[in-house]
Amino acid sequence: MTAQKGSIGVTTENIFPVIKKFLYSDHEIFLRELVSNAIDATQKLKTLSSFGEFKGELGEMNVTVKADKEAGTLTVSDHGIGMTAEDIDKYINQIAFSGAEEFLEKYKDNANAIIGHFGLGFYSAFMVASKVEIISLSYKEGAKAVKWSCDGSPEYTMEETEKEGRGTDIVLHIDEENKKFLEQAEINALLRKYCRFLPVPVMSDGKTVNDTEPSWTKKPSELTDEDYLKFYRELYPGQEDPLFWIHLNVDYPFNLTGILYFPKIRNNFEVTRNRIQLYCNQVYVTDSVEGVVPEFMMLLQGVIDSPDIPLNVSRSYLQADTAVKKISGYITKKVASRLEDLFKADRADFERKWDDIKIFIEYGMLTDQKFCDAAMKFCLLKDTEGKHYTLDEYRTLIEGPQTDKDGDTVYLYATDAVAQYSYIKAATDKGYNVLLMDGQLDSHFIGMLESKIEKSRFVRVDSDVVDNLIPKADRRQADLSQRQRDMLSEVFRSQVPKVEKAEFLVTFEALNPEANPVLITQNEYMRRMKDMAALQPGMSFYGELPDSYNLIVNTESPVIKRVIEAADSELMPKLTAEFDAIDARNAEAEAVRKGAADGKLTDEQQKQVNHLDEEVAHSRNQVKSLSTDYASSQALVKQSIDLALLANGLLRGQELNEFISRSVKLL
Ligand code: ADP
Repeated sequence: MTAQKGSIGVTTENIFPVIKKFLYSDHEIFLRELVSNAIDATQKLKTLSSFGEFKGELGEMNVTVKADKEAGTLTVSDHGIGMTAEDIDKYINQIAFSGAEEFLEKYKDNANAIIGHFGLGFYSAFMVASKVEIISLSYKEGAKAVKWSCDGSPEYTMEETEKEGRGTDIVLHIDEENKKFLEQAEINALLRKYCRFLPVPVMSDGKTVNDTEPSWTKKPSELTDEDYLKFYRELYPGQEDPLFWIHLNVDYPFNLTGILYFPKIRNNFEVTRNRIQLYCNQVYVTDSVEGVVPEFMMLLQGVIDSPDIPLNVSRSYLQADTAVKKISGYITKKVASRLEDLFKADRADFERKWDDIKIFIEYGMLTDQKFCDAAMKFCLLKDTEGKHYTLDEYRTLIEGPQTDKDGDTVYLYATDAVAQYSYIKAATDKGYNVLLMDGQLDSHFIGMLESKIEKSRFVRVDSDVVDNLIPKADRRQADLSQRQRDMLSEVFRSQVPKVEKAEFLVTFEALNPEANPVLITQNEYMRRMKDMAALQPGMSFYGELPDSYNLIVNTESPVIKRVIEAADSELMPKLTAEFDAIDARNAEAEAVRKGAADGKLTDEQQKQVNHLDEEVAHSRNQVKSLSTDYASSQALVKQSIDLALLANGLLRGQELNEFISRSVKLL
């Protein structure tokens, strides 16, 4: 052939600048592209040979990556099918994109779309090279070796040359800015990242860099547990062994293989670092798998390989791809059914692993409707004694005894088995079961379950006194007169120590005589709001609020009965005059208001009312200070409040010290 000159058939002048500019951050992928082409060429020849269409010797079929620092070149060589001048013309010169010009015009501001549309392939070499040569000898009989050369402009030259063996050398004259790609260490790192599991041996620096038959390409029946674990350790060195794994293997309606591992999650760092890797025919694509696998599976690890996952594309392109969407749905189904199998096959083992896997399952149920429906069968609840139940089993267990007067079944739960111990004990003593919901996602998960399980309600075990947790009938009011209430409120309120960011509301209830004299509860709704505020920035309003607690005085408790009796005989006589005064002044003020024409007070009347209100306030202050004085001499009051605070972990520092010395004295 005579030397040929021509213009590469990209109809737009500017494909190279596009490649160079927009892919700057990712330009290392050129090596992946060139090595994959070499692998393809090698495998094509193997296929031709196996069909008898190529009758020659295959010989050595390795792919080699070689840097020559002096010459400034990086060469990727294979012994595959090679290319004739016509092949180069067809596959390299006439880049086969129809309508390229229109497309480029339309998307000229969107590099990702351009790259996603065309792929980069061979031309990505120009991201790092000022000049690229192809020296190739086709497998075809009588083929002549050919050398193609291009300096990055759309002009190329092509001429006959000498080449020893069959196959192709791609020679990159690395440009100034990319000299690092001539360093062996850099090359090794890239080969390890992109070529680690390629199906043909890749040699560099005299060593084979890849495992040509990674576990996911084998049949599950050929693999032992040890093989799976070995592969995991190879993928994520230095990590604890996984809990279990799922081998994916499907050929309809798309091709997909892979192994997904459920890791033991120790910290967030590992989650973001050791992610699922995406491969396309054993070529590494990315570990940014958002959109390819369902969101919750971002917590899983391992490998997914599918020829249907397009190479060279941007993430947004990947997410919009319909094949990729189907893959995501398939993986969800497969993971759910595998979990169900594991649960059925060995429930004891599943329960043992539950604490570690529950985060996946809860996350999945919260974010993926289909997974949620499937997981209702194997999602477990654990009680404070460490027993596990399926959702159905648990419902059967508590329905009846834990159904309230409105027919709602109340799921009692604790978030901290130690801090809420006294409430858990009170509830279990009463025959209730208490769930332990101390996982990171449990507060959200509870809300989800409430909406999924009909006529159900979750109530934290310390949100009310045990008798009121599951209201069977309307609450029993304490049998106290208004004056007794006012007096006792002051008596108890005055003895509550200051607890930072906490407010206490004193109430009186006739509870079980056996129950504690004073109990502290936290409203379920407020507490949930505050919990959510801690997780969601938009709700900081709730987070700012102090914790508000109910301080419930059990008027049936013998201790409180004694307190009331004593106060009635010692304090009440001192308060009677003040209470009488309050009632009298209030009545007078009321009479003045009633006497006002059209409810409008004259200035004189307003003065009178203000004066009466001041007198009432004064008397109230008297009640308060007399009660406070009195209460400070009543060790039982202080003691029963402190006991309640202690049970909630709210008694600290000096208050705790005083409590102890007071207890010693009482003993
Ligand atoms: P793609 O690989 O996506 O088809 P490329 O631009 O990478 O796009 O390559 C274009 C074509 O050039 C390939 O399809 C193949 O026919 C040919 N080719 C590239 N590299 C080689 C090689 N090393 N050996 C033989 N043919 C090759």
